[in-house]
Amino acid sequence: MPTGRVFKRPGKAGIISRLLPFTDLSLNVPVPSRPVRPSACPGLLRIVQALDGGICRIKLPGGVLGAGQASALAAAAQRYASGVLEATNRANVQVRGVGAEAGVLQQALLQAGLGPAHPGGDDVRNLMLSPLAGIDPQQALDARPLAAQLLRLLEGDTRYHALSAKFALQLDGGEALACLDHPHDVWLSPLLLGGQWHWGVGLASSPAQGTMVVALPLGEALAGVAAVLGRFLALAGSDHTRMRPLLDAIGLEAFLAPLGLRRVTHSGPRGASGGRLGVYPQAQAGTVAVCAQFELGRFHAAQLHALAQLCRRWGCGALHLTPWQGLLIPGIAQAHADRVQAELRTLGLLVDAEAPLAAMLACSGASGCAKGQADTKADARRLAMLLAPPRPVHLSGCPRACAAAHVAPFTLLAVAPGRYDLFIRDAAQPGLGRLRARELTLQAAASLLNGLPRSDT
Ligand code: SF4
Repeated sequence: MPTGRVFKRPGKAGIISRLLPFTDLSLNVPVPSRPVRPSACPGLLRIVQALDGGICRIKLPGGVLGAGQASALAAAAQRYASGVLEATNRANVQVRGVGAEAGVLQQALLQAGLGPAHPGGDDVRNLMLSPLAGIDPQQALDARPLAAQLLRLLEGDTRYHALSAKFALQLDGGEALACLDHPHDVWLSPLLLGGQWHWGVGLASSPAQGTMVVALPLGEALAGVAAVLGRFLALAGSDHTRMRPLLDAIGLEAFLAPLGLRRVTHSGPRGASGGRLGVYPQAQAGTVAVCAQFELGRFHAAQLHALAQLCRRWGCGALHLTPWQGLLIPGIAQAHADRVQAELRTLGLLVDAEAPLAAMLACSGASGCAKGQADTKADARRLAMLLAPPRPVHLSGCPRACAAAHVAPFTLLAVAPGRYDLFIRDAAQPGLGRLRARELTLQAAASLLNGLPRSDT
């Protein structure tokens, strides 16, 4: 990604605060009023029952969790729920095992500043950024100011509360560490036109595989996205909770034509997705960010307490959740990076790409979800010990495959306790890919996977 844009270097403190100072919005975009659609997705204000208790999902602006918020979240999860937390694949966090004290938990989270600006806006805070947004020396654009404006629009303007809880946006500033393969209803990436940076907009695809269809000058990006969202809401029927079915029904041209936005056809930043684990340089000389992962996306309140202390001591006082079910700790002096990685290892986080569980995914499975046919989390740990070398395997308790935002190279789909069908990703096949073998035990699955050439991953 070409660079050349000068941006302000953030100080050690206040990365969160830069996401919050919204400008006043006075957009005149036609958005119809309509009732909030029902949803089975958890939120902070809507706790969804699972086998192990309620799930309360907290949507973090830009994935950023301040140290004080992390401590408050850990204390609330420990006191009013089971103490088990999960990092989601949209850089959010959820509390599991919520019981009778759900109301107190919610109050504690709201007091920690983890709630929406407007009660009806909880569901629509789905805006993903790079965990390095604004601090990456390679970025073309600082996505944070526009992200803050968009979040304020989505949360504060009740007309947008009609968007589905799954409707999601992504802002990619051209950072080195970015998750570009998650499909989003609306995504924006830097686009250089006539020597000027624009935001290129893609719809119902991912930056890695989609096409930018509109170019917005930087100063018109907020109004442009608002117009796209307003058009979606004006046209969407009850079958169109997401952008893809609407575009399939009416066509891209019919959707965009009345908006009068500048049309382009430009491929997205394919293949620019970075690795997940490691040490990343920041724009500030001598300062780095350390990226780590929670084992199978799950962690405990005690770990979160310790992480809050760690980022206060070594970093800038904030944790950035990543879309790979992990976190990034920014603002670390380069000389301290090894020590921070060692402390993260001691806390039970993964910091090495070759760790057996680093490339594995598993949903809640039978221990937490009524649809689960097998205990996927426990099976993933067993399988990881049998695989050499480690493989990117997704263990799913049922065909919904909700732990993965896109198809994994290998999917083990549970069909009974300890038994899985193996699928190998194949772009020519719909769903999970090509069915390779049925009803494998973990041992049999490991033998089969170990026998595949590494190039298959
Ligand atoms: S993939 Fe199926 S079993 Fe696993 S958490 Fe989702 S719904 Fe439950």
